[in-house]
Amino acid sequence: MRILISGAGIAGTCLAYWLHRHGFEPTIVERAPRLRTGGYVIDFWGAGFEVADRMGLVPRVLESGYKIEELRQVDRRGRRVGGFPVDVFARMTNGRYTSLPRGALASCLYETLDDGVETMFGDQVVGIDDAGSALTVRFQRSPARAFDLVIGADGLHSQTRRLVFGEEAQFERFLGLKVAAFEAGGYRPRDELVYVVHREVGQQVGRFSMRGDRTLFLFAFADDDPALPADLDGQKTLLRDKYAHCGWECPRILDALERADGLYMDRVSQIQMQRWAAGRVALVGDAAFCVSFLAGQGSALALVAAYVLAGELKRAGGDHEVAFTRYQERLRAFIAGKQRAAVKFTSFFAPRSRLGLFLGNQITRLMAIPFVSELAIGRDLRDALELPDYENGDADRR
Ligand SMILES: Cc1cc2nc3c(=O)[nH]c(=O)nc-3n(C[C@H](O)[C@H](O)[C@H](O)COP(=O)(O)OP(=O)(O)OC[C@H]3O[C@@H](n4cnc5c(N)ncnc54)[C@H](O)[C@@H]3O)c2cc1C
Repeated sequence: MRILISGAGIAGTCLAYWLHRHGFEPTIVERAPRLRTGGYVIDFWGAGFEVADRMGLVPRVLESGYKIEELRQVDRRGRRVGGFPVDVFARMTNGRYTSLPRGALASCLYETLDDGVETMFGDQVVGIDDAGSALTVRFQRSPARAFDLVIGADGLHSQTRRLVFGEEAQFERFLGLKVAAFEAGGYRPRDELVYVVHREVGQQVGRFSMRGDRTLFLFAFADDDPALPADLDGQKTLLRDKYAHCGWECPRILDALERADGLYMDRVSQIQMQRWAAGRVALVGDAAFCVSFLAGQGSALALVAAYVLAGELKRAGGDHEVAFTRYQERLRAFIAGKQRAAVKFTSFFAPRSRLGLFLGNQITRLMAIPFVSELAIGRDLRDALELPDYENGDADRR
C-alpha cells in the first residue's frame, strides 16, 4: 500500500518509520529543502517517550537531551524571584523524562528511516484527486503520482488540511500569543542545566545553555494580531518592538538576535476538528489537533498519534476507513484533555497583570514541595493513555 506523508517533522518521520516497519510503502514529501532542525527545547516524557522507547530511540534521546536541574525566574535585574528544582518532573515520571532541542528529536527520528522510505525534499502537494480506488497527487515540482492514502503531517498550518478539509480559520483557535525561538553561539552568561526565564506583564523570554557553547532563546508574548510577519526581517522587528522596554538581558539577547540567520516564529494556536480523516486522507500531529506549545507536549503527542495511526492501519489490514475511525476514537478524548490543560498555562507564559506576575512567581516557588507539585501538575504529567502493542499479540484488539 503506497502512502504519501506530507511533512518530515516529528509526526511525519515517526509515521514513516512505523508504516515501513508494518510493511507499508511510505513516501515523505517535505516542503523545506532539507530536514528542519530549528526550534526550542522541548520537555519529553509520557506516552511519547514510550513510543521513542519502542523505536529503540531512548539512548539517543537521552544522549541528546539535558537533565535540567532548575527552572529559575529572574526579575529585571536578574535577581531570582521564583522557580523550582526540576527533579520534581523526573520524580513524577519515574525518570522517564528529558529536555532536548526539537531539532535533535527531529534528527533522531529521521535517522531511523532507511532506504525503504523515499523522501522528497523541496516539494509539496498542490492537489489531491480522488479517483475512488486511489488518489492522484499533484506536486509543485515532481510529476503527478498515484497513492492509496495521503497523510497530512504538515504542522499547524497544514496544506493537506486546507486542500481536503477547507480553510485553516475554520479549525484554528488562536490563543492570543506568539512564540519565537532562535539559537546563538558564544552567548554570555551561561547557566549550565538551568532554564532561566524573565517574565513581565504580557511576555516572557528565557534562555538555555546548550553543549558546544550554543544558547537557545525562547520568546512568548501576548499579541492580539494573529498575522505573522512575512520574512525574517519582519519577525526580528516584531521581537525588537515587543522586547525593547524589557529588562534583564533583553538588550543583549536582541543583539544576538540581530546576528541570527534562522528564527522560528508562529502563533500559539490549537487546531480543533470534528474529524481527522476524510476518504483516503487523514491528518496527524499538529495538522490534526495542535495542542499548542503551552501544553509542552506537542512533539510527544505527535509521536503518539503517528504510532497509533500506523498501528491501526496494520491492525485493520490496510482498511483505511476502519483504521482512521479507530485512530480517532482512541485519541480524541485524550487530546481534548491536553488541549484544555494547555489553555490554563496562558497566563504563566504571558501574565495579564503585575499581580498575576507576582502570584505566578510565588506558585513556582511552592512547586518544590511534593504535595503542591502533585496538585498543580501531577494529573497533566501522567498520560492517561494505554499504548496498544500493535506488534506482539492482540491483547487489546476490539
Ligand atoms: C523548524 C521548527 C521549529 C519549531 N519550533 C517550535 C518552537 O520553538 N515552539 C513550539 O511551540 N513549536 C515549535 N515547532 C512545532 C513543533 O515541532 C510541533 O508542535 C510538534 O513537534 C508537532 O509536530 P508535527 O510533526 O505535527 O509538526 P511540525 O514539527 O511543525 O512539522 C511539520 C513539517 O511539515 C513541513 N511542512 C509544512 N508545510 C508543508 C507542505 N505544504 N508540504 C510539505 N511539508 C510541509 C514543515 O516544514 C515541517 O517539517 C517547530 C516546528 C518546526 C518545523
